Amino acid sequence: MKKESQNGHSFFQNVERYFDKATNYLSYDPGLLAQIKACNSVYQMRFPVLVEDKKTGNKSVEVIEAYRVQHSQHKVPCKGGIRFSPDVNQDEVMALAALMTYKCAIVDVPFGGAKGGIRIDKKKYSDDTLERITRRYTTELIKKNFIGPGIDVPAPDYGTGEREMSWIVDTYVAFHPGEINAYGCVTGKSIPNGGVRGRREATGRGVYFGIREACNIAEDMKKIGLTTGIEGKRISVQGLGNVGYYSAKFFVEAGAILVAVAEIDCALMNPKGMDLEDIMKWKSEKGSLLNYPKAKVVKNPGAALEVDCDILIPAALESVITEENAPRIKAKIIAEGANGPCTPGGEDILLKKNVLIVPDMFLNAGGVTVSYFEWLKNLSHVRFGRMDKRFTENTNKIFVDQIERVTGQTLESGAKLLLEQGADEEDLVNSGLEDTMINAYQQVRHVWKKHSKIKDMRTAAFVLAIDKVASSYTTLGIWP
Ligand code: GLU
Repeated sequence: MKKESQNGHSFFQNVERYFDKATNYLSYDPGLLAQIKACNSVYQMRFPVLVEDKKTGNKSVEVIEAYRVQHSQHKVPCKGGIRFSPDVNQDEVMALAALMTYKCAIVDVPFGGAKGGIRIDKKKYSDDTLERITRRYTTELIKKNFIGPGIDVPAPDYGTGEREMSWIVDTYVAFHPGEINAYGCVTGKSIPNGGVRGRREATGRGVYFGIREACNIAEDMKKIGLTTGIEGKRISVQGLGNVGYYSAKFFVEAGAILVAVAEIDCALMNPKGMDLEDIMKWKSEKGSLLNYPKAKVVKNPGAALEVDCDILIPAALESVITEENAPRIKAKIIAEGANGPCTPGGEDILLKKNVLIVPDMFLNAGGVTVSYFEWLKNLSHVRFGRMDKRFTENTNKIFVDQIERVTGQTLESGAKLLLEQGADEEDLVNSGLEDTMINAYQQVRHVWKKHSKIKDMRTAAFVLAIDKVASSYTTLGIWP
């Protein structure tokens, strides 16, 4: 079960070490802390699926290894993504489930933490095979009561997206005829399948909002030798999947300069900046960035982590910043878009170099925040904004007409449009996300600054999260 990482500790053990470090600043009953730290339910499954080799078309039966872990039920449902990766293992899923508990607590999303994983290399299989694997996995979850709108609600993660979530909901609904809230059994669905507008971009947008908040605080920026604001800051992004791409897009739109990107087989670098959309177009046409002509191509993807930049955004897999490469990292801010990108050893080196690490469990919480909005939409059976958009627009129009009448002046048409508009679903989702990320950042920072001995933001985030989870147990009266 244990997967050794570079420092001799597994990923789950690393999460436990961060947890233990944070408990030095809390004074809860050790039994309560042990309960919060433990993984409550681990479901390891094996099931047979008829698979079709993408290249040869040959069919054979393969036994698939998969997991669903519910780390905490202090609030239900449990929540967390499902990843498809050849590296999936029980320890990894347990670590990611634990991070989900703390993540949800930090952003006040009322869920326990969970995670799922299927150990497959999705590139090997046809779409039909992937559909069969996903549907069979869903039925295994149904059989053990590990999925449901009030039990456990999966979502996308590394290697999965709207398509897989739509297969999951379709399977779940088929097994639960008449269950009125069935569409709330999974989030990150496509819009026609009950998804919410803004979910696709949510994690990347959250990364942007979180770092924008950090960069707005002059006192903190001064300490790491940076000026305030995003404009002109040089960013490097590791991984151009959903999280990496949208993070990069929002930073670039705010005036940041994309100096490096890394994919699985290479890194692109150009200190003068690169065109993100052009890179994405090349990637989708050619399948790889290896021959991209408008940047220096380096065969070692790890080079993007070590490039001279202001903000490094690891947005792929865990344990990519370690004791080995941390001494060579030049970024002043590490924006953890991925879950667990820094090992504790790597982090110690970076902290000594005065690097600001904005931790995953806060920074990539935009995804689960908007998943929460999607779940609320599914339970309320109505699109956000449907009831009040027109009403707000009509009321605003009356205000604008009155202003024009009283002042005798006609407002400029662009301004008039802005003043009159009512919020649609996407506006509401994005504004809820922005507010959540700003509030959560301020809460984490408050803990960080309040305890003079807390030197890093991750410990502060753990303290905040444990405190919030503990309060749900103490209000239950189980612990004093
Ligand atoms: N997989 C994402 C995460 O790690 C999203 C989870 C969700 O939306 O439930 O936060």
